[in-house]
Amino acid sequence: YADTAMYQVKEKGRDSIEFFNEEMADKVSRQLTMEGDLHRAMDESQFKLYYQPKIDIRTGRVVGAEALLRWNHPVKGMVSPVDFIPVLETSGMIIDVGQWVLEEACKTLVTWKESGLWQAGMKLSINISPRQFRRDAFVDDVIAALDKYPIPEKSLDMEITEGIVIQRVDDAIVTMTTLSDRGISFSLDDFGTGYSSISYLKRLPVSTLKIDQGFVRDIIDDRNDRVLVETIITMGRLLDMELVAEGVEEQEQLEILKSFGCDYYQGYLSSQAVPFAEFEEILAREQSEQPA
Ligand code: C2E
Ligand code: MG
Ligand code: MG
Ligand code: MG
Repeated sequence: YADTAMYQVKEKGRDSIEFFNEEMADKVSRQLTMEGDLHRAMDESQFKLYYQPKIDIRTGRVVGAEALLRWNHPVKGMVSPVDFIPVLETSGMIIDVGQWVLEEACKTLVTWKESGLWQAGMKLSINISPRQFRRDAFVDDVIAALDKYPIPEKSLDMEITEGIVIQRVDDAIVTMTTLSDRGISFSLDDFGTGYSSISYLKRLPVSTLKIDQGFVRDIIDDRNDRVLVETIITMGRLLDMELVAEGVEEQEQLEILKSFGCDYYQGYLSSQAVPFAEFEEILAREQSEQPA
């Protein structure tokens, strides 16, 4: 931190350096503690996958789910992925945890297939982090999991962010095409928050755009957000993509999305992410409501 500290000396004088160093040291020590805790979390199976239903806006039916990582810390309780995913990323642990998520999702799909809860056309999405995706062995690791678990055809979807692909588009296309050939589909997560260049969007084998919840949140009151969402939906449809709105909490938001022609949504209006057994109940309820 030498350069930054020097800068601090010039800008703010001596007092701020000590404050800065202490704060820095504090941050580093918290990061290290968390890294240790995260290693233990893997060893002691403290990670869980929760499942948030994805709903067809027209029919109101469950068409799949997004698997979201949860960490049940022995002292702190449930820790949000927002707080620990960055630590997994910087420490490189995301490689192992990401592979765990993938295999766990595959096991879940096999279980649901065998119990008849999983219906044709449903998809389970997992989130893939940049560091995981860019690794040379990523494709081999995924294929190894697919060889190991006989998941239903075309049932696995991977959510990636624009940041993943923008830097080395050609490499990303090769990775995605190889996995698409094995039946995996891709969604662009948090769409609209990144670079959103239409020219590369056209080239990527992406089947779904997930409209970031930041735009959905104020869709009722904020005209700009409403125009933006409508534009994303129109563009997505022109590119033959499916549209998922994230973070839908109110009926009125849903009505607006519906009027724009959005296909699917996720959000507290329908359900939070729930544990495995609870999602099974949701699927079972869906089936019993299905007209014979
Ligand atoms: P994301 O993939 O964009 O997931 C959506 C987040 O929005 C989830 O937060 C979800 O619980 C939350 N959410 C869903 N509906 C609503 C709603 O109606 N209102 C509000 N306010 N929030 C809603 P969560 O589970 O805390 O995950 C946060 C982020 O952590 C995810 O954003 C994703 O980027 C990352 N993440 C989660 N699981 C994994 C994982 O297995 N691997 C990787 N690499 N990242 C993950
Ligand atoms: Mg996601
Ligand atoms: Mg998202
Ligand atoms: Mg997000």
